Amino acid sequence: MNLVRLELSGFKSFAKKTAFDFSTSTVAIVGPNGSGKSNVAESIRFVLGEQSMKSMRGKRGEDLIWNGSNTQGRANRASVALTFNNTSRFLDIDFDEVVIERIVNRDGTNEYRLNGSVVRLKDILGLLASANIGQSGHHIISQGEADKILSASPRERREILEDALGLKVFQYKKDESVRKLNKTEENMRQVEALRREVQPHLRFLKRQVDKIQKAEDLRKEATSRFQEYFKNELAYIEHAKKELDTKKKELDSKLDAVRAKIKTTRDVLNSEAENADGKKIAALSEDIERVRAERIQASKESARLSGQIDALQVTLREAHVSGKALQSFVEKHEQELNQHIGSLESLVSYAKSLLRSLKDLLSQGGASANEIEKLNVEKQKALEEEKVAETREKALVAEIEALRKELDESRVQEREKERELFALTSEERELAHKEEVLAGDSTRLRMEEDEFKRESAEALALIGSGAVSYQKNGDAQVQRSEQEKEKRELQKIKIRLEEMGAGGSEEVLKEYEEASEREAFLERELDDLKESAASLKTLIDDLDTELRARFEEGIKAINDEFSRFFGLMFDGGGAKLTLVKEPVRRIRSLEDENDDGVPDEMEKTVDGIDIALSIPKKRIKSLVMLSGGERALTSIALIFAMSSVNPPPFLVLDETDAALDEANSRRYGDMVAALSEKSQLVLITHNRETMSRADILYGVTMGGDGVSKVLSVKLDEAVQVAK
Ligand code: ATP
Repeated sequence: MNLVRLELSGFKSFAKKTAFDFSTSTVAIVGPNGSGKSNVAESIRFVLGEQSMKSMRGKRGEDLIWNGSNTQGRANRASVALTFNNTSRFLDIDFDEVVIERIVNRDGTNEYRLNGSVVRLKDILGLLASANIGQSGHHIISQGEADKILSASPRERREILEDALGLKVFQYKKDESVRKLNKTEENMRQVEALRREVQPHLRFLKRQVDKIQKAEDLRKEATSRFQEYFKNELAYIEHAKKELDTKKKELDSKLDAVRAKIKTTRDVLNSEAENADGKKIAALSEDIERVRAERIQASKESARLSGQIDALQVTLREAHVSGKALQSFVEKHEQELNQHIGSLESLVSYAKSLLRSLKDLLSQGGASANEIEKLNVEKQKALEEEKVAETREKALVAEIEALRKELDESRVQEREKERELFALTSEERELAHKEEVLAGDSTRLRMEEDEFKRESAEALALIGSGAVSYQKNGDAQVQRSEQEKEKRELQKIKIRLEEMGAGGSEEVLKEYEEASEREAFLERELDDLKESAASLKTLIDDLDTELRARFEEGIKAINDEFSRFFGLMFDGGGAKLTLVKEPVRRIRSLEDENDDGVPDEMEKTVDGIDIALSIPKKRIKSLVMLSGGERALTSIALIFAMSSVNPPPFLVLDETDAALDEANSRRYGDMVAALSEKSQLVLITHNRETMSRADILYGVTMGGDGVSKVLSVKLDEAVQVAK
């Protein structure tokens, strides 16, 4: 047996802890009206997770809790525990005994326990669904609800049947899958939104990384080109230096040689011997000048003396005619004497001067003859001196002529030397010019070397040590124009590299790496989600197919049983479940997104179940035309059909037999007996026939305190108790 025990505490009229043992296949609960029998059925609904208060005849959770009476105070909570024997593992849980407990508190909160552990309602429902104890409660038929299945809508009926056929577990799985699919698709949308957020940044980073990569490629290219360029430049500089050195040495020795020759030549030209003749000529010239001056002086002297002589001779001649002179003298002095008469003193003085003048006049004649004699001697002497000087001059001129001639001859040789010197100085000038050119070359080379060093330092700073690490085996012979061209190219590359800038590239690369990892992660995530969405859809489709197939199969089986039970109850006739399409407003679901072109507002149909029946001798068109008893019989036939096709672990029937007459009560009893072979039955009844089919009878009574009590009774007692 599956149901082992039911324990109520504070549940409705069961104020105290009350237990029912269900160790047999059929248990009947009997008792007078209002004693609390239906409360027992409701307590089973309650513990199995019923959420509809209405189906437990309450409005709030509180209504389920013992509300107190004049003797017994109210309870704070109601608890119901149902114990199952699970050795057959009809419940999908690895325990031999399973206790499901539900507690409701006055504040309306509920608690669920599974073997003492607090669990969620969902866990309880999942567990029960797997054992064909569905939520629709087809296995608990409450009082007055026997014909519930008849008054239900086709769609509700379909749900009850699905539940009875044990398809709820598929429905449950399907709902779970749809829920998962919803969640997955929501996650997909979130991941897609995240990707949309990440992607522009990633694209931006990718562009940066491409730039960095380009710069890196350019840097690599620059490194090898710089190496090649520097290698050749260094080779060129070293080679040029050596060449300049050699040239300079050669030139220096040539210059030294030429300068030595120039010095020798100059020395020869400036030698003493050469000058001696010159000096001699100069001295002779001076002598000649002097002798010539002497000659001219002597000549002048002789001429002057001749003049004096001539003058004296004139004076002498004039002295012989002095009477005339005396007369003029006397006349002159007569006049002057008159002027001095009057003053003796002046007269005396005048007489003295007159005498002196007279004396002079008289002495002139005698002196002149002597003077001429003397002058002639002097003149003779001067003439002789002139002659001597003339002779001497002639001799000196001859000598100088001879010397000049000699000098002219030596001059020819000197010219030769001078020409030689000229040639040498020209050569020296030429060599000096070459030296200047070399110095210019050397300066230029130094500048080139400086430039080379500057470029190396710059390349080192911009590109790194790679650019200046090269083997010293460059080609010195590369054309300068080629190197210049390469230099210009490298300059352009440098500018481009500077423009590209390497700042922060590591951070960009790191960020890009992280962003792409994130993007890859999101992509994988999305793929995984798509994959699981696809498999969920497949699962949902499979479950749908399975559901449909099992449902159709189940309906067929139920129909067979329904017809049989119906025939039994009505002594003929027939009943059949038919599949109908019931229009419903379309419910927006995930599948709708796989657009089928039907707008949401449009109505769609859903499968429902209708009941077609025929009662012997009656023309019944629809269920509403049935009498109360006929309705009860029809629904009992259907409930029994359902239960026999897919027997639930237990079945609670609360006064389902209330409307039956005696004959039908017997048939009902027979069916109950047959059904108890498959399902455990809890029958709440006033019907003696039904009671007689039970193995155990419990009597429920209520005293003046309003508390329901349970006692085990025998059939006869039960009949009494039920009254
Ligand atoms: P009948 O044979 O007429 O169907 P019954 O035996 O099925 O009667 P129930 O309907 O199970 O009787 O019990 C109803 C009784 O339970 C009433 O007397 C009612 O006062 C009592 N009852 C219901 N809820 C509570 C509650 N919360 N606290 C106390 N008593 C309650």
